[in-house]
Amino acid sequence: NLFLLLVSKKPSLHFLFGKNFEGATRIVDQRGVKRISGNPSGRFIFQVTGESRKKDQYLCFAENFCACYSFFYDVVNRGEQLCCKHQLAARLAAS
Ligand SMILES: [Zn+2]
Repeated sequence: NLFLLLVSKKPSLHFLFGKNFEGATRIVDQRGVKRISGNPSGRFIFQVTGESRKKDQYLCFAENFCACYSFFYDVVNRGEQLCCKHQLAARLAAS
């Protein structure tokens, strides 16, 4: 699992994900990640609370999708980030 490998090397995580990593760490610290399991499929999705004042909540697959604006803008459109901070937070919380 590439992500777990990266987590074991936190300095390089920060290098890869930059400010998103700091935001993700704050979200995890504030217990902003909830895992919602499907029954009976056993699949799960994350509900992640954002850092804006409104505390928006985003549904998010850690591997490949988040409903937030940053995911569409930074990840899909511009390709400048590997994932958004909500996905990072979900992965950190699950690891
Ligand atoms: Zn997101």
